[in-house]
Amino acid sequence: MTTEPLWTGARLIEAMGARSQGPVPADVTGASIDTRTLEPGDAFFAITGEARNGHDFVAAALDNGAALAVVDEAHAGTFPAYAPLAIVPDVLRGMEKAGMARRAELSARVVAVTGSVGKTGTKEALRLVLSRQGKTHAPVASYNNHWGVPLTLTRTPRDVRYGVYEIGMNAPGEILPLAKMVQPDVAVITTIQPVHLAAFESLEGIAREKAAIFEGLKPGGTAIINADIPQTGLLRDLALAAGAGRVISFGESEAADVRLLGCALKPDVSTANASVMGRAVTYKLGSPGRHIVLNSLAVLAAAEALGADLALAALALADLTPPSGRGARQVLHAPAGPFTLIDESYNGNPASMRAAIENLGRMPVVGRGRRIAVLGDMLELGETAPELHKGLADAVTGNGIDLVFACGPLMRTLYDALPSHRRGAYAAQASSLEPYVLDAVRAGDVVTVKGSLGTRMGPIVKAMMARF
Ligand code: ATP
Ligand code: MG
Repeated sequence: MTTEPLWTGARLIEAMGARSQGPVPADVTGASIDTRTLEPGDAFFAITGEARNGHDFVAAALDNGAALAVVDEAHAGTFPAYAPLAIVPDVLRGMEKAGMARRAELSARVVAVTGSVGKTGTKEALRLVLSRQGKTHAPVASYNNHWGVPLTLTRTPRDVRYGVYEIGMNAPGEILPLAKMVQPDVAVITTIQPVHLAAFESLEGIAREKAAIFEGLKPGGTAIINADIPQTGLLRDLALAAGAGRVISFGESEAADVRLLGCALKPDVSTANASVMGRAVTYKLGSPGRHIVLNSLAVLAAAEALGADLALAALALADLTPPSGRGARQVLHAPAGPFTLIDESYNGNPASMRAAIENLGRMPVVGRGRRIAVLGDMLELGETAPELHKGLADAVTGNGIDLVFACGPLMRTLYDALPSHRRGAYAAQASSLEPYVLDAVRAGDVVTVKGSLGTRMGPIVKAMMARF
């Protein structure tokens, strides 16, 4: 059996309303915006970002085997006449058109996920669960923005049974156009939390913005909302106003349609007992933490709404693993013996920081080992930032975290609020904190590293892996 190519060159050119120059490739087998990850046969979209102009990479893309380069009118003249080009007024707009054309061709059931935290985790859980039941496409990493969403749509094979998309935002107004591109059958809002508060006036403002995802729903589609937050009622009203045919709430609240009845949290796995629209489901989760259990309720709700088999979906969740940078663990070997590193360095905000601290508190330590949190500033929180950092002190003591290493002026407010025996070291920059952390670890410790991407905690993780 031969599978059809992702696109034919002619169809892709037509979908973008592009003018072609040079040979038109028969097949286009992928889509790329980055020559470092480009595969031969890909269409290369010369997207222009803040730092780079994609047109500077067209020659390299074609050298590396790109089937076609999508370029704008202004740059088209700079390439040789024999280069296979699709010329459009604006490359990003061209990619959006390709993505929308692909969406229109899908007979798949489509789910879109947004929320203040847990989008990628929920998206990966949906990929896992749905791919057991039919061909599934989901984005790489957190491809959830103005280029990530159309790129992921463009990359979706026509014959998938399920499509999973992540929709994110940094500023007001970003979700609506992306939701309209994705046109989900099922739209999930994981939760509303103080993230990007700097760009919004209130949590209600964030909720209203996230609810724009419902404006993209297919008529009569399903909205999935968190039952445990103050904005549940608002989200429900907004979903119905946007034309949702059904609203499913999930959480621990008694009123939740998908309700957590109980769970056992262990360091590596959790067991959950839930009622999914009245059906009792008991299942295991291969990734630890109460927040993962709560996200899994949304996954089951979405699976049900997509028409997937609920029991099979629940079974698949046992194979969940924490993605790298979001709780992935490894045992490293310090001179005195082994210790555990939990890499949470991908990002940090108050909700995920608390979840990570709780998970660390649940970890067993060996011998004289200690629970160590290496924490960097949580950024983009606006005026309440110092309070939100200092407020973590309760979580640190309540979860039995023995030592905190802090970096950044905001984390300093937490560090200063801690009793002296829980203070490891403080430094303004992650790079200056690194030697203190490397020096401190000993056998039996469990070390969690977490902070906003901008605080550059990742290199501390890398340094530990290189040293031990
Ligand atoms: P981004 O906006 O950066 O793409 P995201 O919404 O995709 O983030 P994830 O990458 O899934 O979020 O998770 C980010 C962090 O938040 C991880 O450390 C994860 O463990 C934690 N997390 C996930 N879900 C929740 C939740 N419901 N509550 C609190 N923390 C959560
Ligand atoms: Mg993400």
